[in-house]
Amino acid sequence: MTLDMLKVGESAVIGSVDRDEPSLRKHLLDMGLTAGAEVTVVKKAPMGDPIEIQVRGYSLAIRRDNAAKVFIRTVHSHQNESTWTEEQRQEHARNFDDRIFRPVPVGDPIPENRKIAFALVGNQNSGKTTLFNQLTGSNQHVGNFPGVTIDRKDGEIRDRDDAVVTDLPGIYSLSPYTSEEIVSRDFILKEHPDGLINIIDAGSLERSLYLTLQLMELQIPMVIALNMMDDVRKNGIDINIEKLETTLGVPVVPISAVKNEGIDELTERAVSTARRRECPGRPDFFLNWHRNGGALKRCAETITDFLENRTPKSEIPSRFAAMKIIEGDELIEKELRLGTGDIDELEHLIAKMEDEMDQDRTSAVADMRFRFIERACRAAVTKPSESIERIRSIKADKILTGKYTALPFFILIMGIIFWLTFSVIGTSLSDLMEAGIDRFAAAIDTAFVRAGVNEVVHSLVTDGIIAGVGSVLSFLPIIALLFLFLSILEDSGYMARVAFIMDRPLRTLGLSGKSFVPMLIGFGCSVPAIMATRTIPSERDKKMTIMLVPFMSCSAKLPIYMMMASVFFPKNRGLLVVSLYMIGITVGILFAAILKNTVFRGEPDPFIMELPNYRLPSVGTVARLIWDKVKDFITRAFTIIFVSSIIIWFLQTFDVHFNIAADTEKSLLAAIGGFIAPVFAPLRLNDWRLGTALMTGFMAKESVVSTLTVLLGGSTAAISRLLTPMSAFVFLVFSLLYTPCVAAIASVRRELGGGWAAAIVVMQCVVAWLIAFIVFIIGSVILGIA
Ligand code: GDP
Ligand code: MG
Repeated sequence: MTLDMLKVGESAVIGSVDRDEPSLRKHLLDMGLTAGAEVTVVKKAPMGDPIEIQVRGYSLAIRRDNAAKVFIRTVHSHQNESTWTEEQRQEHARNFDDRIFRPVPVGDPIPENRKIAFALVGNQNSGKTTLFNQLTGSNQHVGNFPGVTIDRKDGEIRDRDDAVVTDLPGIYSLSPYTSEEIVSRDFILKEHPDGLINIIDAGSLERSLYLTLQLMELQIPMVIALNMMDDVRKNGIDINIEKLETTLGVPVVPISAVKNEGIDELTERAVSTARRRECPGRPDFFLNWHRNGGALKRCAETITDFLENRTPKSEIPSRFAAMKIIEGDELIEKELRLGTGDIDELEHLIAKMEDEMDQDRTSAVADMRFRFIERACRAAVTKPSESIERIRSIKADKILTGKYTALPFFILIMGIIFWLTFSVIGTSLSDLMEAGIDRFAAAIDTAFVRAGVNEVVHSLVTDGIIAGVGSVLSFLPIIALLFLFLSILEDSGYMARVAFIMDRPLRTLGLSGKSFVPMLIGFGCSVPAIMATRTIPSERDKKMTIMLVPFMSCSAKLPIYMMMASVFFPKNRGLLVVSLYMIGITVGILFAAILKNTVFRGEPDPFIMELPNYRLPSVGTVARLIWDKVKDFITRAFTIIFVSSIIIWFLQTFDVHFNIAADTEKSLLAAIGGFIAPVFAPLRLNDWRLGTALMTGFMAKESVVSTLTVLLGGSTAAISRLLTPMSAFVFLVFSLLYTPCVAAIASVRRELGGGWAAAIVVMQCVVAWLIAFIVFIIGSVILGIA
C-alpha cells in the first residue's frame, strides 16, 4: 500500500520509499519519511490534492502523486502516539548511550585580534532571521513562510567588535536538492566560517536535529541555539539541556529570539567555542544495537580513512564527504575529483554495505540519523501532550484549509485586504498626505515669489521636483498598507496554507502551489517576488513563475491607477483597480497555459512543503518590515523619481537649441516623444506626453505619474485634455502589462541571465500592446453600439 491510499485520520508506519526518482526520494527521506516513522493523514486540500500529513511532530503538505512513492505498512485508524512514562524514559536513557561527549579543540586557538566569522544555519522558520536581527541590530525580512531568506546576509554582532555573522537560507539537509541547500552548503564549505550557530526550533527537535547531525560531521566549531524556548515552556515541554549537550557533544544554549532572551549567553558561548576551535566531540551516530548497523559504520569509517589518506587532501572534511558519498551525492564526488578507479572501489564498498544491511544507501543513512535522533529526544525531552500551538493550528485549519471553507475564506481575506487598502483606510490617508504636500508646495511657492527667486529655478523646484516627487509620495500610505497586510499573512503562517490550497488549480497551469506565494508577493513588488522563486526547487517551475510575476500588478503601479481613477472614474475607484488586477491575472493565466503547452512541456515537479503552526504575527517584526518598505519607497522617491523629475523638467523646459521653449510642444522632450508616438497611435494614445511618461516608467512605475504631473504643469486633472475615459483605460491596461521596471529586470537577470531578462522585456511589451489594442477594439465596439 502507498501513502496516498490512506484515508483522512488513518495512521501507518512507513516501509520504504520508491527508488525510481532519486532526488524526490532523498527529499522525502530528509523530511523524515524514513522506514519505521509513523505518519498520519490529517486532511486533503479542498480539491482533493495535495494531502496534509503529520510526521515526526510536524505537518507536511505533499502531492498525492508524490505520496504514491511512499510504501506503508500496518495501517491503523487512530494515532497511537507513543508517549513514554517517566520510568520508561529513564530506563531508556540509561541504555541509550551513557557516554558523555564534550567539544574537543582541533588546532591552535584563534588569536584575540582576529575577527570571528559565524554562519547562522537552521531549518526554514526556525527563527534565523529573527536571531540575526537580534544579533546584529539590523532589519531583515522575517516571515512564517518556508524560504523567506533566500540570500545570505552579513552583519557585525552588536556590541562586539570581534565577531560577524552571516544569515544563510533555511535548509533541512545538506544534500544538494534545492538552491538554498546549495547556497548554504557552498558557503560553509568554501568560505570557511570559524564557527556555526545552528538554530533549532525547540518545539520540533526531532526534525531539526537531522540537519544538526550533518553539520556536526563538518568538524567546524559549533553551538546550538535552542530557539522558541518561550513557546516550549508555555507548552509545558521540558528539555534537559545538559543531557542534550552531552549526547551531542555540542554546546546548547536555550534562547528566545523574539523575546531577546539568552542572546548574550549565546554570543559568549559561540565566540569562546570558535576561538578555542572546539569542534563537536561526538565521532558518529551509529547505535551499536541498530539492525546490522555495524555494516554502515564500517563502510563510513573505511571511506573516511580512504579520503583522509589521499594526497592532496581535499578541503572538504573527510567524514562529511564520506557520508555524502554513501548518500550518493554526485556533486561531492565531482568536487573531490575522484578517479573512476576510486569511484568503482567506493561503490563496491557501498554495494556490500547495502547488501549486508538489506537497505539501500540513502535510506540507510537517513535511517541511522533519525534513529539516533529519536533516541536522543526520548532521553532529553519530556512532552506532556500536543502543544497548544499545534492544537490551535489544527482548529484554525479546520476552516482555513477546510474542504468547503478554504476558498471562500481565501477570497474573503484577500477581498478585505484590498477593500481596506484601497477604499477605506488607504485613500483617506493618501488624500491627507496629498493635502499636506499641496500645502507644502504652496508655501514654497509664496516664499519663492516673495524672495524674488529666478523664474527658472522656481519652476525647477515647484514644477519639477515638488510636483514629481510629491505626486509619488502621496501614495506612500497605500503601499505601506498593502505590505502590512502581506506581511501579516506571511508571518502568521497563512501563506503556506495558500500554497497548499492552490497547488491543485495551479497544476492545471503546469505550476505548483509553491509558485503561488511569489505571485502573491508580486502584488507588493516584483523584486522580492522574483527572489522568492528561489524556494522553488524545479528550474522549469521557477522560470515559469518568474515570467508570470510581472503580470501581477505591483504596488508601484497603483499611483497610476489611482491618478486616472480620480480624474476619469472617481465613483468607481475600487472597481477600476480590481478590474485591472483581474486583467493582469487573466492574462497571466492565459500566458501560463501557452507556456505550458509550448516552451515548458513536461512533468510537474514534486510538491512537498512544511505547514508551520500558525503564530500571532509579532508587532516588532511586522513594524520592521513596513519600515523597511517605506524607507525603500522614500529612497526611490528621492533618488530615481527625484532625478527623473529633474530630467523631465529639463527636457520639457528647453528646446533643441537649449533655449527656454515657449511651448512644451517645441521642447526637447516633445521631439523625443514624437519618435515613439507612432507606436501608440493605433491605441489612440496620440499625445507625445503619454508615450514619454510610459518610457520613464521603465525606471520606476511611479515615474509615469510624476512625469505626467510635471508635463501637465503640476496638475493631474489636466490629463482629461489628453484622454477620454476609454483611452484612459487603454492606457492603464498598457501600463499594467508592459515591461517591468529596471529593478525587476535586474532581478530576473540575476536569476535567469540576460537572455531571459531581455526576452521578458520584449515579450511583455508585445503582450501589453496586443491586449491594450484588443481592449481598445472591444471598447470602440461597445461605445459604437451605445
Ligand atoms: P527563518 O525562516 O528561519 O529566517 O525564521 P524567521 O526569523 O523568519 O522566523 C519565523 C517565525 O518564527 C516568525 O513568525 C517569528 O516571529 C517566529 N519566531 C522567531 N523566533 C521566535 C521565538 O523565539 N519564539 C517564538 N514564539 N517565535 C519566534
Ligand atoms: Mg529568514
